[in-house]
Amino acid sequence: MEIIKSTAEAQHLADTIRNSGRLIGLVPTMGALHKGHLALIDAVSEQVDVTILTIFVNPTQFGPNEDFNRYPRQLEADIQLAESVDADYLFCPEVSDMYPGGELTQVQVSGLPDHLCGLSRPGHFTGVTTVVAKLFNILKPHVAIFGEKDMQQAIIIKKMVRDLNFDVRILTLPIVREADGLAMSSRNQYLSHEDRIQAVKLFQSLNFAKEMVLTGEKHVEVIREAMTRFITGGTSAVIDYVSFADPDTLDDLSELPAGSQVLIALAVKFGSTRLIDNLMVKVPQFQD
Ligand code: AMP
Repeated sequence: MEIIKSTAEAQHLADTIRNSGRLIGLVPTMGALHKGHLALIDAVSEQVDVTILTIFVNPTQFGPNEDFNRYPRQLEADIQLAESVDADYLFCPEVSDMYPGGELTQVQVSGLPDHLCGLSRPGHFTGVTTVVAKLFNILKPHVAIFGEKDMQQAIIIKKMVRDLNFDVRILTLPIVREADGLAMSSRNQYLSHEDRIQAVKLFQSLNFAKEMVLTGEKHVEVIREAMTRFITGGTSAVIDYVSFADPDTLDDLSELPAGSQVLIALAVKFGSTRLIDNLMVKVPQFQD
């Protein structure tokens, strides 16, 4: 795997690969790689000739009181992991190269960020869409892949690509989980031993919510209350949100329409560590 640090060099490399007729696949990450990231690399590399992994802890997607400074940075370990799969290039630019100063341009999708994570992380998705647009311009991928763990992010990026005619195909990958069901995340390493054990309740609560939907419960408040009680019972967990959303608009639902797809998504804090998870469920068509 070749490592590229400069944006100019990366842009030149992408031109050369494109001009030789080879397909470029992009896997944008913030590093502290785990098996979820490696699964993204595996999935995209099956579709393209050249896979480019990026590691960039993007400051513009962190709020002033968020974990930008303490976000895990472990480039050496990441390089070893990325070399164990099929990544051809690693692009890991400095902040000063990506944002030399004086930027006046942002890419902002409206509406979709006004739900779920966007409510407690104002400006986060504008940081994400701006950096992803920059990565698309630098690395000119034919295909880019995003994880469904960050479902709202994937939905917003797909919308940006459609609205701005980016010439890139967006793939998504189902959530990769630990053996006990916890969604893999670079932030899991912040958790205390006790909180790590309790964190499995997030996935368990999503599963029983799904079960409640499948057995006919249509009132979101009833399901949300049961989930909240289960997650917070005997734990230090603090709920940020538990939402049932229309996966197209991300609008919050209070009644689940028969036959519709619903995104059940949550964000929960253990101390200062904020974890997210979600699952999609199809509401059954029951006869009344
Ligand atoms: P991050 O480094 O956390 O910004 O994530 C980089 C990419 O990996 C994003 O597209 C995430 O959605 C994806 N990702 C992170 N964790 C997982 C996971 N457990 N399963 C699938 N994709 C993931």
